[in-house]
Amino acid sequence: MVIVMATRNKEDIDHVVKKVEELGYRAHLIEGVERTVVAAVGDEREKYRLQSLESLPYVEQVFPILKSFKLAGREARVDDTVIEVGNVGIGGGNFTVMAGPCSVESREQIHEVARCVKDAGAQILRGGAYKPRTSPYSFQGMEEEGLQLLKEAGEATGMPVVTEVMTPEQAPIVARYADILQIGARNMQNFGLLKAVGKIDKPVFLKRGLMGTINELLMSAEYVMAEGNPNVILCERGIRTFETETRNTLDLSAVPVIKKLSHLPIFIDPSHGTGHWDYVTPMAKAAVVSGADGLMVEVHPRPEEAFSDGAQSLKPSKFVRMMQEIEPLVSLCGKSLTANAAAVAK
Ligand code: PEP
Ligand code: MN
Repeated sequence: MVIVMATRNKEDIDHVVKKVEELGYRAHLIEGVERTVVAAVGDEREKYRLQSLESLPYVEQVFPILKSFKLAGREARVDDTVIEVGNVGIGGGNFTVMAGPCSVESREQIHEVARCVKDAGAQILRGGAYKPRTSPYSFQGMEEEGLQLLKEAGEATGMPVVTEVMTPEQAPIVARYADILQIGARNMQNFGLLKAVGKIDKPVFLKRGLMGTINELLMSAEYVMAEGNPNVILCERGIRTFETETRNTLDLSAVPVIKKLSHLPIFIDPSHGTGHWDYVTPMAKAAVVSGADGLMVEVHPRPEEAFSDGAQSLKPSKFVRMMQEIEPLVSLCGKSLTANAAAVAK
């Protein structure tokens, strides 16, 4: 159920939260620009008693949530969620580019890529340290050393870092180094992992599964949010279809659909979405125009030597050109590549 407050008075809101909790629900406070909403999450048996809260003068309305995503849905929050990571804003009027290699491979490699993507205008550095590889014989990532190098390169260039966490046991160590925790496509429905990152106070970058529907993606976001972590960034990275010319089929229509259903930021990953470097820039441009809030792009100084995903990685010079080509489109869409969190959220 959703309880729309008619006031911003803290005492009145606290009173409603207390009532909701007394009825056995978990209360999530959602403070939007226009109004404050209390989402009551729990089983629906006491819903008629929740409905009675409408008699309070400072409650505007109590209504059931029609869709099953109580926290991720637009009904819970009208305005877009804006997430602040360091001085970077994600969502709202920001267009945010996360870029870096598929895998952290060495100190030299990650520092070289970090400098290049920063100079080209990326705001967040990516790099995998724990890699979900199809074959157990493929490079599995540098693990903790990779996390250390990624953090070091992020600090050297003034960028927050995002990296994948594959198991609940890894969550604490990844959270020690990363600013944003990535849940990979293969783990979109690893519910134990979603619950684990839901308990950590860091934003979660949640990728759509290879066979995941939009509804299932939002349900997975719901798992994270129901544990108390409201900062979820969604990412469309291509789904599996009968097409074999591209690695996956990038479902750009997911962007307007998710914009309608949810207030959470939605990113596009054109690298995994296509699997070929020469399709990355066209799809990045299309992503901007579709209304996406940002991109995740793989960049490698020497793609032919990459330990993973070289074929879909942009060389630095190509990444620079991609950034130049998307910039006018970002402006056209009324967004900014450089806006920082403080400027947009306040
Ligand atoms: C990645 O970002 O390197 C990755 C493995 O992505 P995905 O989970 O989308 O395949
Ligand atoms: Mn990759």
